[in-house]
Amino acid sequence: PPVAIVCVGMAGSGKTTFTQRINSYLHSKREPPYVINLDPAVRNVPFECNIDIRDSLNYKEVMREYNLGPNGGILTSLNIFATKIDQIINILEKRTAIKPESPKVKTKPIKNIIVDTPGQIEVFVWSASGSILLDSLASSFPTVIAYIIDTPRTSSTSTFMSNMLYACSILYKTKLPMILVFNKTDVQDADFAKEWMTDFEAFQTALKQEEDSGSFGGREGSGGGLGAGSGYMGSLLNSMSLMLEEFYRHLSVVGVSSMTGQGIDNFFKAVNEKAEEFERDYRPELEKRR
Ligand code: GDP
Ligand code: MG
Repeated sequence: PPVAIVCVGMAGSGKTTFTQRINSYLHSKREPPYVINLDPAVRNVPFECNIDIRDSLNYKEVMREYNLGPNGGILTSLNIFATKIDQIINILEKRTAIKPESPKVKTKPIKNIIVDTPGQIEVFVWSASGSILLDSLASSFPTVIAYIIDTPRTSSTSTFMSNMLYACSILYKTKLPMILVFNKTDVQDADFAKEWMTDFEAFQTALKQEEDSGSFGGREGSGGGLGAGSGYMGSLLNSMSLMLEEFYRHLSVVGVSSMTGQGIDNFFKAVNEKAEEFERDYRPELEKRR
């Protein structure tokens, strides 16, 4: 069965650029995916998409009609779109069926469904319509979350920790297998992140260093007393690290550059692993919950 890849991440992390990259990668492998844009507020979609939320909705008009600000406009657009999810799933099931509809048409069955989500992560992850869209997808297809991270902007221990906790909360909320995608490796390599995720002591050392240089928390001179070894922050960080260790065990981690295409092969290896995991571990759970 085809795998649905849902790209989520903070605004500016590179979801849209990443979607564009994996789309062109699959095209070059002659396995064109089925692409869905769920961001009603995006100006230009740099890839050809099969379903675009903007085709059925004008979010500026939604804002005007319901007297909403930008976030309300995006959320309401997503709500309206979610009411049509049955039709969407229907189309997806037809387009991804093993047997071509007509033997004359030589379309290969689609192996991947890619979903790009709105810039603001919370609109999708923490809304009812976001859950409806995800649950519907996951009840028809093995579905994996690609959590996109802006690597250069997450290279201090505190932004790193915050980002990991956010990813953890999304894993817990969606209950779907997750791949951490460290993006923008053309600007900064993701090795530091991989090291922090596998070696607690390396993370501790980095914490200590940032504390000593006074850059902990990104504020000059705030180092004293906030770091790893001391005070409530120190013990909080220690306990969080233990919790995160358990969280990391459930993840696949890849470094990519959506700009250059570096690492995309590894991403798809991770997708295959996570799709198997979905069938083995997640689907039974989903069925229990239904
Ligand atoms: P979104 O809000 O998550 O959809 O993020 P976008 O895809 O719109 O990207 C935000 C910014 O990051 C844009 O200026 C992109 O050009 C840039 N960007 C995205 N991926 C990469 C990458 O791999 N490397 C670099 N250097 N910049 C990137
Ligand atoms: Mg985007």
